Amino acid sequence: MTPTQPSPPEYNLTGVSYADRQHFRYDGPLIDAHAHATMTHPNDSPGFPGGSGRNGSVAPAELMLDVAREFGIVRTYAMCPPQDIPPLRERFGPQLGFNGLLQKREDEPDDVAYRLLDQFLEQGVEIIKFWGPPRGCEEGLFVDAPWRRKVVERARAAGVRVFMVHVSDPDTWFARAYADVLRYGKKQEHYFGLLFLLNLFPDVTWIAAHMGGDPENPDHLEELLQCYPHLYFDTSATKWQVREVSRQRDGIRGVICRHPSRFLFGVDLATRHALVREHYVSRYWCQRTLWESTWEGPSPVADGDYQPAAGEPPLPALRGLGLPPDVLRQVYHENARRLLPACATANPAPL
Ligand SMILES: [Zn+2]
Repeated sequence: MTPTQPSPPEYNLTGVSYADRQHFRYDGPLIDAHAHATMTHPNDSPGFPGGSGRNGSVAPAELMLDVAREFGIVRTYAMCPPQDIPPLRERFGPQLGFNGLLQKREDEPDDVAYRLLDQFLEQGVEIIKFWGPPRGCEEGLFVDAPWRRKVVERARAAGVRVFMVHVSDPDTWFARAYADVLRYGKKQEHYFGLLFLLNLFPDVTWIAAHMGGDPENPDHLEELLQCYPHLYFDTSATKWQVREVSRQRDGIRGVICRHPSRFLFGVDLATRHALVREHYVSRYWCQRTLWESTWEGPSPVADGDYQPAAGEPPLPALRGLGLPPDVLRQVYHENARRLLPACATANPAPL
């Protein structure tokens, strides 16, 4: 009997050296506009991270943000429950900005959401986030639900200028987990709520997370950017972007280069109590490799959503876009700094 080989870790299936960063082309500061840096606790549930507040540990956030600094990230926008904000702010100061995720259960009164908003506003969040993909819509979490429209009005009156939405999921999910069209609808239908909000609130900034939820369709992203000048996309959800942006490399590169002021760098890392350093390293490394280099090879991170099409290799390819320096500067730093003025308090020096 031959001994079975231990399976490689999810953060490095290919044995790539993450210390090899010679292909990086950018040496300025970055801002991560989409992250879930939170307090953590061994009893945390696997759902949305964070919430242990002062009873939790700050160590996993220290680990994640230490790695972020190593990759040039001077400020990270953290989505965490309001009770996590004071201990995180005390520990990290201007290295963190905050994004308030507005959720409530379907059976809860709207006041639950408004009280949560008040807590976030007291903590000085700069962004309000609405999570409303198909699996959320099943629980009443439509991005344009009436209580969420009211949240925009109240947050705007309190000075919040930036709203983030998650409206859709990968095409592969619509082909499998969401294949029941009567139950989940078609992918395109999930954009109606976003369009409604864009039309209703043209005077604030909207960031559609995860490349607008549609890196599979650069033409759709182009159309949205042309129609809605107050709409932006973030680059977060690393496995998804690596897989689909690499497949659509020329199309996505074209959209970003035509609209360099409309994209924000984001990774979507979440602190979890037991995650190791290399998990964080893998995502930052893949993101920077994807956008700024011309590196090509199998993606090192495990991706259960990858289904090779005819002629495709067994692991998804990572094919770097090699974005030009002036585009990178905007996507990595300048756009976030312009849209989120408190970024100016983050010290861009420690690189
Ligand atoms: Zn996220």
